[in-house]
Amino acid sequence: MTDRNNCLALDASDPLAALRDQFDLPDGVIYLDGNSLGARPKAALTRAQQVIAQEWGSDLIRSWNTAGWFDLPSRLGNRLAALIGAEADEVVVTDSTSINLFKALAAALQMQAANPATSARRVIVTERSNFPTDIYMAQGLTTWLDRGYTVKLVDRPEQLPAAIDAQTAVVMLTHVNYRTGYQLDMAALTAHIHAQGALAVWDLAHSAGAVPVDLNRAQADLAVGCTYKYLNGGPGAPAFIWIAKRHQAKFRHPLSGWWGHAAPFAMHSEFQPTAGARRALCGTQPIVSLALVECGLDVFAQTTMDQVRAKSLALTDLFIALVERRCGHHPLGLVTPREHARRGSQVSFTHPHGYAVMQALIARGVIGDYREPEIMRFGFTPLYTSYVDVWDAVEVLLQILDKQDYDLNAERDAVT
Ligand SMILES: *Cc1c(COP(=O)(O)O)cnc(C)c1O
Repeated sequence: MTDRNNCLALDASDPLAALRDQFDLPDGVIYLDGNSLGARPKAALTRAQQVIAQEWGSDLIRSWNTAGWFDLPSRLGNRLAALIGAEADEVVVTDSTSINLFKALAAALQMQAANPATSARRVIVTERSNFPTDIYMAQGLTTWLDRGYTVKLVDRPEQLPAAIDAQTAVVMLTHVNYRTGYQLDMAALTAHIHAQGALAVWDLAHSAGAVPVDLNRAQADLAVGCTYKYLNGGPGAPAFIWIAKRHQAKFRHPLSGWWGHAAPFAMHSEFQPTAGARRALCGTQPIVSLALVECGLDVFAQTTMDQVRAKSLALTDLFIALVERRCGHHPLGLVTPREHARRGSQVSFTHPHGYAVMQALIARGVIGDYREPEIMRFGFTPLYTSYVDVWDAVEVLLQILDKQDYDLNAERDAVT
């Protein structure tokens, strides 16, 4: 049976162990919330200093050219491409996930409307358990379009295939569910979506930097995702959007600002989209936070997603096994799939007092988070989480549960 010494031994032979030193983590904290806000790469502080003091402070407006500010969305997109199975000029880092989803959905609906074989289709299919902003953005778009589009919410992943039919224009799915950690089969679902004549828009918010993704091999159509979660880009860091090469010439979205223009500085009065993924850009980018995204990508460049995945599965397997073995006398319910192929890089357990227990964990330095209903969520980020962290986190959980050392009247924070 695994004990703390076995965990120390696993750390000693962990090929990713050295990468932890590239992150700044406070003493006394076991950080299991990198699925919500990734930890800070140490390099981000010097990079921020450089962008603010030198590039902005000294070089001023010249930095759009001399510091490569103007190209930054594409340059970062090309580096991120390696983590999600994309090619050069298919990804840009820009705007938020919500906004990129709006652009992707609008473009996908328009591609379908322009095709006589699919122009009558009026349904967007997604999951009821999808992250709410994804559903809200789809509802906002369809309501605003006012052309009879509807959003169909499917209750369970197994029901998705049957819910996709000849009425379906677009299927918008989040690859790894934010609450349960359930990972959909991207290749199989995309093939089914295409067989039904629909387009597949994938949200990689909990996948990029967390699990191997191969968008082109899956023949996905469009994708979006987050950089502030597993990619450690910083709070509110710009998101990304991916446009498969074969769709780029047809990709049009309603937020057609000057940064997506073929000749932004020609100041023409007609919009003419530029080539490649840059046509997904809207306006001037937040350069300070955009620049910091590179620091997280620099760490990923020192490993491979296969190595990250191997450790992620080992960490999540270990956590599940230890919680079940040591805390099994408490009313905890595993929500995350045991099957590796269906699991992301987080583990969720329900507990009737989940919110209070999570607050007690956080107070003792084990930082996870809580999601309605009753779900305690633990994210495992292989770049900076060790095996002994897993052991120690379960030890703290056990103490809290055994002593019922949590406050049932804990005030709810605005952000949980
Ligand atoms: C985290 C997350 C988002 C976040 O969207 P923002 O626009 O950055 O607030 C969107 N979708 C999913 C599936 C997420 O997990």
